[in-house]
Amino acid sequence: MLDLLRAEHGGPRALARRRDARLAALVVHARTSSPFYRELYRGLPAGDVTRGDVSLRDLPPVIKPQLMARFDDWVTDPDVTRTDLEAFVADPTLVGSRYRGRYFACTSSGTTGHPGLFVHDPAAVACYRAQGIRAVRSTVNAGVMPALLRRGIRTAVVVGAGGHFAGAVWLESERRRSRGRRRAYRLFSVQQPLESLVRALNDFDPALVVGYPSALELLAEERDAGRLRIRPAVVESSGESLGDPARLAASLGCGVHNVYAASEFSPIALDCPRGWLHVNSDWVILEPVEADYRPTPEGQPSHTVLLTNLANRVQPLIRYDLGDSVIAKTGPCECGNPLPAVRVAGRHDDVLHLDNASGRTVSILPLAVTAPIDGAPGVHRCQLVQSGRAEVRVRLELEPGAAADEVWQDVAAKLAGFLAGQGLANVKLVRAGEAPEQTGASGKFHQVIALKHDPD
Ligand SMILES: [Zn+2]
Repeated sequence: MLDLLRAEHGGPRALARRRDARLAALVVHARTSSPFYRELYRGLPAGDVTRGDVSLRDLPPVIKPQLMARFDDWVTDPDVTRTDLEAFVADPTLVGSRYRGRYFACTSSGTTGHPGLFVHDPAAVACYRAQGIRAVRSTVNAGVMPALLRRGIRTAVVVGAGGHFAGAVWLESERRRSRGRRRAYRLFSVQQPLESLVRALNDFDPALVVGYPSALELLAEERDAGRLRIRPAVVESSGESLGDPARLAASLGCGVHNVYAASEFSPIALDCPRGWLHVNSDWVILEPVEADYRPTPEGQPSHTVLLTNLANRVQPLIRYDLGDSVIAKTGPCECGNPLPAVRVAGRHDDVLHLDNASGRTVSILPLAVTAPIDGAPGVHRCQLVQSGRAEVRVRLELEPGAAADEVWQDVAAKLAGFLAGQGLANVKLVRAGEAPEQTGASGKFHQVIALKHDPD
């Protein structure tokens, strides 16, 4: 924590010095301990990045499917294997336990829709946790700390449950740290029907609410309608990009903070009063780039962004294509924070509004509807496209060698089971002939696409 504060105090030069030294050490480590990177960097000069032998831009970018295909060669601990880790994350009772007694492990489909498995070592987890100091400072500055403390920092985390999703794993492992945390932090599953979610939140009466933007937007609608009666002191949006923070703040009756987070590194960036996200650049490097990986000029939306995690050694991520479209701020931020600032344009799945048998509309969160089929055998990517008030097309991209009919039966049964639990047994699932498509102006992958225009 002290180093984080010192780095900022020293300004851009102190931040750059730390970043460069950490990058050099990481590249040396990756070349030494990861067979995948050793092979990838074979043609590059030996030596370290700080001496100018190799610059960051000389290093070839990597993508998730490429890393996942070489998982056992990618990780630097030979005891970590894909088969073994897949067995660990297949067991929902192990959420919050450390994989092999020490690693934080989570799964993600992320922006690209390709499944990912991530492990973070204890030093990296300590680093992510220490970055909370920057979040605490902004809470103190916002003047809401007394209100939070008065209500025991009662925190509702509204995320996907029942699997090793980063948010749930983080919450469960924090809860295991002390009795006070166990009392204060509670997980609210986005998969449960909206009515019961609202009831549970009303009973808990949280002082702090953390959730994905899509979940928070739905909660804002419920509060506008008078059904959700919570009065949080502050709300934190985490994960994807936030649509309209001002409207959300007005509906939820408190300040809304935005945290840019991913399964690959968290928190990547924290917001400031000027609406920018300040990147924790002493521990994570973000490079906004075009489709051919040339740098995107400041002030313009990028095609994607390359992430380098300087904290995690067990599974090195160096110039990793994260898939988000970001805009880097030109010049220093007016708020005075020396950390580089970005805005994220990329990531936003839709909330589905489906009609039940009696014609009433039921809202379904994107993560809730995809969770039952996340990691389903044989599925490489899945995309749900609403095609009617009570109809959803299911686009599947299969793993090589998977039996198409069996995979479809399994996926359809899982989805139908989930929908029935939401009172939507009437919704028709259509097996789509077409493969999942990249959508949106930036060509990003959306797992859930709502009906844009009523067909009638
Ligand atoms: Zn700022």
